[in-house]
Amino acid sequence: MIRKKEFKILLDKLLQKELEELRKRFRPYKRKPFLRNKVTIDLDLKCKEKNTLGYYKNTRENKRQWKYEHKIFLTKLSRKRYETYCNVINDKKWGVEYLREIIRHELIHAFVYEEFDEWEMIEGCNRDYSPIFLACLHWSGLDSPYPYTNKFKESDLYKNIEKCKNYDMVYMYLVHYIGDLERSVRKINEKLNTDSNNYKKLNISFNHYEAGMIKKSYVSCITRSKKDNNIYIQKASEMTLGIGFLVTQKDIIDNFERKFNNGSMAISHSEMAWYVIGNELKQKIIIRESS
Ligand SMILES: [Zn+2]
Repeated sequence: MIRKKEFKILLDKLLQKELEELRKRFRPYKRKPFLRNKVTIDLDLKCKEKNTLGYYKNTRENKRQWKYEHKIFLTKLSRKRYETYCNVINDKKWGVEYLREIIRHELIHAFVYEEFDEWEMIEGCNRDYSPIFLACLHWSGLDSPYPYTNKFKESDLYKNIEKCKNYDMVYMYLVHYIGDLERSVRKINEKLNTDSNNYKKLNISFNHYEAGMIKKSYVSCITRSKKDNNIYIQKASEMTLGIGFLVTQKDIIDNFERKFNNGSMAISHSEMAWYVIGNELKQKIIIRESS
């Protein structure tokens, strides 16, 4: 078996190669490196997810932090597969190519994070089922290994990306794509809030593993208050829809209302009622909550 130390040396070497390869693909005429922040790679022998080949994380903790570190980890499984290529098929070149593809996939997570997630328009641009991630992954010469992601090729976004001559054009498309989504959500929120006794807010974020739409979180609170012998009822609710690469603006516009009102449980769900007399909270009741 290849030792951890030895494997790490190989990974470091491949990481540098891959960074240069990607720089050429994404920024051919620029002196700018592929990533602005430092990136490290290591072998994680303790990873519990059995089918994971590699994963990405970074050390950014808040919005104002511009300097942070990207961290890429490959798992035991990827080392085992590499060894299979080397020993069983007896072809080291294939093994190295296999590792490079995993590293490239993880580097695209880091890249999309720097390019799009940093400005926090829509959460999760770099997640695996985000159209932004899939578009950049495709531009890097790879396709996603996950189920259904080949359907991305049927989307308008993909067709537009295919026509691009360079990454700057891809970037423009993606910026507009995010901007359009964000604008339609803002319009929905303006329309939703004409009644001050019934406040509603819709958020969206990109999905990790769903191509379609999911009800990610829902929080609502009904306040019944008694003041000067009058009873006032106010309701406030906020919902986050997770959207995958197959979801269009139209899908959001056509479905958000139903998702708000259909009473189905969100993944993270909380409905509460408050009773207030005068200015004092008398009782707080949980109506429904996700476990
Ligand atoms: Zn991934």
